[in-house]
Amino acid sequence: MNEQPSIALRNKHLNLKNLDLSSAEFPLEHIDINKYEGIQKDIPLFENNSLQDIKFISKWFQVLNLARGCTQRCSFCIRCSEYPVKEVDNKISTILWEDLIRFTDGFSSLGERLGFNPLKGNSHLVLFEDANLPDARIKDINGQIHNTRECIEQVWNKLRMPFILVTSGWFLNDNFAQSTAEEICNFMVKNPTSIKEFGISVNPFYMGDRDYYTSKVANAIKTFLPIFKNGNEQGVILIKYNRPNGVKAETTGIEETTKLYNEIYSKLKDMTACSLDDFEILKPENVTRHSDDKYILNRGNARNYFQQDEVEKYNKQIQEESEKWSKMSQTEKYAHAYENTTKNINIDGKIYLVTPSEQVINTKLSLNYINKNKIAAPVYSDAEFDTL
Ligand code: SF4
Repeated sequence: MNEQPSIALRNKHLNLKNLDLSSAEFPLEHIDINKYEGIQKDIPLFENNSLQDIKFISKWFQVLNLARGCTQRCSFCIRCSEYPVKEVDNKISTILWEDLIRFTDGFSSLGERLGFNPLKGNSHLVLFEDANLPDARIKDINGQIHNTRECIEQVWNKLRMPFILVTSGWFLNDNFAQSTAEEICNFMVKNPTSIKEFGISVNPFYMGDRDYYTSKVANAIKTFLPIFKNGNEQGVILIKYNRPNGVKAETTGIEETTKLYNEIYSKLKDMTACSLDDFEILKPENVTRHSDDKYILNRGNARNYFQQDEVEKYNKQIQEESEKWSKMSQTEKYAHAYENTTKNINIDGKIYLVTPSEQVINTKLSLNYINKNKIAAPVYSDAEFDTL
């Protein structure tokens, strides 16, 4: 049988004698990229990408967006999330199911040709930048809807990257989101290594009715209860609140947030009708114990809860960061971004970067998604940066 050209190319240039690339972190760093160039040929995902592009994307690859836009409207959202856009006039609010398949098949085919997983070294994968996943309805070309559990299963089966997932709950009358959440929970229980961390967000910055909010969060915890059981290290309640000197601190500080969580816990007890002794991590004294990392960050919409001088100080810092970036040469930008930013993929296949201070840098790089010419909302950033 004739050997595929790409495999022949790999065998010609691969030297596996001295280096075990299958266990090396960021393995594309350990090969001569120019010698391998072409190995990605005929993989539809990489039609417009060089192997150097793929190497760039593979270093600190972090977010594969399945959906954009959020129904939850938290007033402290650091991405200033808007509602999902209406899918009219070429606009999209979710990935196309076939593009998800193209993505997972693309990277797994490349891995087979190389003989190692090019994404190895990335500790986890996130599936959204500013969306709430149990809600997401991923359409395929025929208009059939796929839920997040199907997407998670597809990515896990093909790429074996563990996920970090967070939800702030879902509308109580959303049966689709409820059954999706139950399916995700079942999947995680059956595939414990697929989840690095599963978080449920609790904060006093929600919009709307308190009673509804506490019921919504209690329902989310109840749905994912097995993940929080003693001995399971993956479940976490992500609680956030304001600093004592923050704006509206009297209603958004630790005391009020502790009361809020106590109400949620009490509802959870009623809903589950059990003592919750096997779920130490959910006990109010464990959830509401103070640590500085529970303070909200001076970013995005959360800046509305900071005093003006602190907001100005932060704005100045990110302005300086943006100016420093704009003074770099193209080569310096590329090298800096390669080492210091995460690589993230929007629902249209475009690559954007996120800096350590959570700023977004758009790039001209994109993957060959079927929906590459559709319009996805830009990801919010506090400062503008020149495109790479
Ligand atoms: S913080 Fe999360 S759940 Fe809340 S609006 Fe933003 S993306 Fe949605």
